[in-house]
Amino acid sequence: MSTSPTVWPPGTECIAKYNFQGTASQDLPFSKGDVLTIIEVTKDPNWYKAKNKVEREGIIPANYVQKREGVRSSTKLSLMPWFHGKITREQAEKLLFPPDTGLYLVRESTNYPGDYTLCVSCDGKVEHYRIIYSDSKLSIDEEAYFDNLMQLVEHYTKDADGLCTRLIKPKLVEGTVAAVDEFSRSGWSLNMKDLKILQIIGKGEFGDVMLGEYRGNKVAVKCIKHDATAQAFVAEASVMTQLRHKNLVQLLGVIVEDKSGLYIVTEYMGKGSLVDYLRSRGRSVLGGDCLLKFCLDVCEAMEYLEANNFVHRDLAARNVLVSDDNIAKVSDFGLTKEASSVQDTGKLPVKWTSPEALREKKFSTKSDVWSYGILLWEIYSFGRVPYPRIPLKDVVPRVEKGYKMESPDGCPAPVYEVMKRCWHLDPNQRPSFKQLLEYLQQIKKELYHR
Ligand code: AMP
Repeated sequence: MSTSPTVWPPGTECIAKYNFQGTASQDLPFSKGDVLTIIEVTKDPNWYKAKNKVEREGIIPANYVQKREGVRSSTKLSLMPWFHGKITREQAEKLLFPPDTGLYLVRESTNYPGDYTLCVSCDGKVEHYRIIYSDSKLSIDEEAYFDNLMQLVEHYTKDADGLCTRLIKPKLVEGTVAAVDEFSRSGWSLNMKDLKILQIIGKGEFGDVMLGEYRGNKVAVKCIKHDATAQAFVAEASVMTQLRHKNLVQLLGVIVEDKSGLYIVTEYMGKGSLVDYLRSRGRSVLGGDCLLKFCLDVCEAMEYLEANNFVHRDLAARNVLVSDDNIAKVSDFGLTKEASSVQDTGKLPVKWTSPEALREKKFSTKSDVWSYGILLWEIYSFGRVPYPRIPLKDVVPRVEKGYKMESPDGCPAPVYEVMKRCWHLDPNQRPSFKQLLEYLQQIKKELYHR
């Protein structure tokens, strides 16, 4: 048996590469794909004490499992690392030099805007095949048709089917890594065979959310079939590999399928989004202690993001989900960035975004604190849309002048004080999530003696 290269500390998560039945009573049997957590390093570095999902403990062989790690944040993951965008025929030929039969890339067509060109090295020269885009389908020979470039490349990777050669090696865009390779390297790739998709449960900005079953457990699956939006999903999933907290919706893994697109598999949150939950249950069902518990759940997650230097940028009740056992967890990491890389704005939810983020694109933990204040208001008003009765165009000018929403009916005064602190126009005067957590814990003690 080979020695594992580095010792994994307790708490390390691993994913099983093979089945292990175990021979001795102290062994922990597992199946390929199971997630195991290291508890203890044994004297022999080839064996670890670990536990499985149902907390059963035992000894496991190190070389049967792969350590799960966060996807490297410095790498730009791409589903189409061979897509070079608008480059010329000459640039493509330079990139495919030295000629290596089967080396390929795809570029946007210069002669036929809207179409693409597949460039392949073959016996010392580069062939350029026009990919015609019509009626939402792509085709080179008008015999085989594809929904997207990934499918087309997959097809010609398997078989030349009329091209000078089959596609053998992608010419990667500098600085990118194939998403599929990075997810497997870091231990986050799941097997499509283990996933059963059951029914649609939600519609997201980028695609449908489905209820699924993964190895016997209920899971939520985000599916995406189109090239452009799939890239945004890759970004969301790679952020999720780096985060773990009881109040963040947990990523279980990713499936990259050339044929059917990308799937992000997360834990299933049976009670759906917090905003729908608040609206449908309302005041008669949800007591003050329950509302405060949601505030605390979200605050704990945000304190974790703050401590790890992540900025969420889209915190709102619609992006918080509720589990079957009523735990609120933050989700939708599509816009989440490591603090240092936060710059661009794009489409922003105006009523949730802080004035400095809207004005100067200054996103920070303190702009998340502003959004958290709005979220507190949403919770205590049972899911109302913020700034009721103020036309959207008037919201920003009024807020900039210092306007703050009134306290929702029945909201305890100390909670409303917390909201107002989050809405300080000067971001430096807003509390940190660590402080907010302390305030809320104090309020809980005072109001509910717990
Ligand atoms: P999203 O694309 O994340 O905004 O999700 C759209 C909708 O799908 C949400 O509002 C939820 O109703 C549902 N949904 C998303 N993720 C999950 C999940 N993990 N568990 C249950 N429902 C979910």
